[in-house]
Amino acid sequence: MSIAAVSFDNRFASELPELAIPWQAEKFPEPRLLALDEALAADLGFDPEWLRSEEGVRLLVGEGAQPVAQAYAGHQFGGYSPRLGDGRALLLGELTDSAGRLRDVHLKGSGRTPFARGGDGLAAVGPMLREYVISQAMHALGIPTTRALAVVATGGTVYRESPLPGAVLARVAASHLRVGSFQFARATRDLELLRRLADHAIARHYPEAGSYLGLFEAVVTAQASLIARWMHVGFIHGVMNTDNMTISGETIDYGPCAFLDAFDPATVYSSIDHAGRYAYRNQPVIAEWNLARLAEALLPLFDDDEEQAVKLATEALGRFRPQYQEAWVSGMHAKLGLQQGAEELIDDLVEAMQADKPDHTKLFRTLSAAARGNAPAPMPEAWMSRWGALNPDLDGMDRVNPVYIPRNHLVEEALAAATAGDLDPFHRLVEVISAPFEERPGLERYTEPAPREFCDGFQTFCGT
Ligand code: AMP
Ligand code: MG
Repeated sequence: MSIAAVSFDNRFASELPELAIPWQAEKFPEPRLLALDEALAADLGFDPEWLRSEEGVRLLVGEGAQPVAQAYAGHQFGGYSPRLGDGRALLLGELTDSAGRLRDVHLKGSGRTPFARGGDGLAAVGPMLREYVISQAMHALGIPTTRALAVVATGGTVYRESPLPGAVLARVAASHLRVGSFQFARATRDLELLRRLADHAIARHYPEAGSYLGLFEAVVTAQASLIARWMHVGFIHGVMNTDNMTISGETIDYGPCAFLDAFDPATVYSSIDHAGRYAYRNQPVIAEWNLARLAEALLPLFDDDEEQAVKLATEALGRFRPQYQEAWVSGMHAKLGLQQGAEELIDDLVEAMQADKPDHTKLFRTLSAAARGNAPAPMPEAWMSRWGALNPDLDGMDRVNPVYIPRNHLVEEALAAATAGDLDPFHRLVEVISAPFEERPGLERYTEPAPREFCDGFQTFCGT
């Protein structure tokens, strides 16, 4: 293989030039590969060995491509910014994977772009490895997500609160179309551009949609399902701005995200989320709010008559709540190894969890272990016997309730070591969370909740 032999499609850039500014990545003098998902690389048609070579690593920091910075707008913490865009990211282009699907290959931390505003365009090793490990965990959990292909250390220094080693993340996504992409297109008042963007989204993600309203309905359904999946595993995105919500239904933009330790629905980890807007329990209503912004952006495409367009949009958005509820309830049944009809038992469980604040991940595995007689009951006797009387499918539970997630204290430990030059704990953690359901001897440390001192006041940072 050689760089010259890799040919990216430029479908986004050629179909939507108004949303794409041709731009080159910064030249990094000493790029060094820190992490590579070899299976993903092979799936995209790369020889993983070659990607590890000096030339392959140069491709992973943007050499040889005709990248673009994508334009988008967005509501950040509820306030509208008309021009965000890729301030430190570039779309290298698209590749077709082994299943024939078009995938974006995208860099983050590759230098300033015309959208950089005051930012330096760079990223540090810690936050990029964080996106790598958490997106890997989400994928292994079966949750739709953008994927991390590689993290390359740039050899340069990034200045945050302290000087940090710099890195570039190469990520792969079904696309980088965001709610904010539509907000941007709508704000141009160029209806033809908005229509072209919607056509592009339909062709890439929902070819069966049939209409622009069908596109919106498909996004509503995808997001209802996605957010329910987050809730089931205790994932807190942390910064659900409209520019961080995809049209494809993939989780995107791993910043201050983290998994719940103790079950407290009010949990907020992000240091900048002072009002708790993006708390664990708020994620469904925030998703609905973001989808309302998408509906507003798409409105002129729904009907020429504005009143009729609003009526159609309102009806479609109204499906989010029942769809989310349906997805959440059915997933909770699966977590308890039950068929349908156990809503009351589920409500009682959640109520008890709110009172006791058990470790969210450990609780569900302890339930199946207790039912096998291998662990003390984690719930009161009365609840255990009601549940046991329904004959839960214990093996089925263990296929949906992870043993291993990237626990906050383990992530912090691995990233601190990596920043100091020791990647072993990071690679080990990635290996453990890549098979989240299969309990393996010797990995007890990875199943244990964080020490209390760690949990109290634990905060995550955007790393921007
Ligand atoms: P985020 O909250 O990470 O999704 O980023 C919001 C916006 O800030 C996006 O437009 C990013 O491209 C931009 N941004 C974040 N960090 C930087 C940085 N270090 N340099 C330039 N732009 C950035
Ligand atoms: Mg973002």
